[in-house]
Amino acid sequence: MSWWRGWRDRIETDAPLGARTWYRIGGRAKWLAHPSDAESLSRLMSAVAAEGVPWRVLGRGANVLVRDEGFDGVVIVLDAPAFTKMTFEDVSVCVGGGADLMKLCKACCDRGLSGLEGLAAIPASVGGAVRMNAGGRYGEFGDRVRSISVVETGGALRDLSREDVGFGYRTWGLGRAIVTEVVMDLVRDDPVRVRGRFKEYWRLKRATQPVGERSAGCVFKNPPGASAGRMIDEAGLKGERCGGAQVSPRHANFIVASADARASDVLALAQRVRDRVRERFGVELEQEMEVW
Ligand SMILES: Cc1cc2nc3c(=O)[nH]c(=O)nc-3n(C[C@H](O)[C@H](O)[C@H](O)COP(=O)(O)OP(=O)(O)OC[C@H]3O[C@@H](n4cnc5c(N)ncnc54)[C@H](O)[C@@H]3O)c2cc1C
Repeated sequence: MSWWRGWRDRIETDAPLGARTWYRIGGRAKWLAHPSDAESLSRLMSAVAAEGVPWRVLGRGANVLVRDEGFDGVVIVLDAPAFTKMTFEDVSVCVGGGADLMKLCKACCDRGLSGLEGLAAIPASVGGAVRMNAGGRYGEFGDRVRSISVVETGGALRDLSREDVGFGYRTWGLGRAIVTEVVMDLVRDDPVRVRGRFKEYWRLKRATQPVGERSAGCVFKNPPGASAGRMIDEAGLKGERCGGAQVSPRHANFIVASADARASDVLALAQRVRDRVRERFGVELEQEMEVW
């Protein structure tokens, strides 16, 4: 009998994962689960915990590199309508953990709700944006969060305030909880001005980062008081190649991949970057990109 017996929602076996990530490379998942709502996800997590099945939750795959061997466990995707809905009420929005961040930003622009413009051109699901506290110099996702709902490892459903989340630099304090819903507080403004700022941040990001290419965004976190990209550049690594992977000539903290790249090319190049920065600056770079 399979571990998910009795679970009524869709589960795929031997499912390709690469195409579900921004890199579009990497192997398959042993199982790919599509829960229909938070209660179904809770039941799935109970079964996973009871059987000790390895698991991951995947958003837009914009911060993940899947190994060529794939993932020997269950990958959960929140693509059911219950996880992608957005409900606006005055200056607040309640949005599902599987909703697309750019769709949310654009819906806010249309309604003249300000607060998310600084996240323009960051590929993410809402859940992934909470988990990573996605953002940059123009703001972070956590800045606007009032509360979130999660399913914990083991299956418990919980509602948490912003303070409980423990947002930090590209991280949070909730370990492996799964975000199912988020409530955000925004600020009323003129839609033309909100959209204008959103477009300007989008333009600035495109001018400095390889936004349209296959990558997982910044590979390394910035060390305290320093820029990982500048260090990689000063170590002479801009444009460095390994197989189909290349340190982006536009932004040295991005490793971009060609269509024929393998995940192992990206991993080998990331290791070379880490080694050279350590040799040159005596600094151990911490990886921001997740490897599954
Ligand atoms: C071109 C490009 C530009 C980028 N620019 C930026 C930037 O400016 N700033 C920035 O911060 N990041 C940036 N990134 C990285 C990426 O966009 C963020 O890390 C984003 O938050 C990832 O969201 P995701 O839904 O794709 O998460 P995934 O990559 O799918 O997953 C990332 C992590 O979040 C977890 N996760 C996913 N969904 C959930 C959920 N519902 N509940 C709990 N955990 C979940 C995953 O298990 C994993 O641990 C960039 C990436 C690319 C490709």
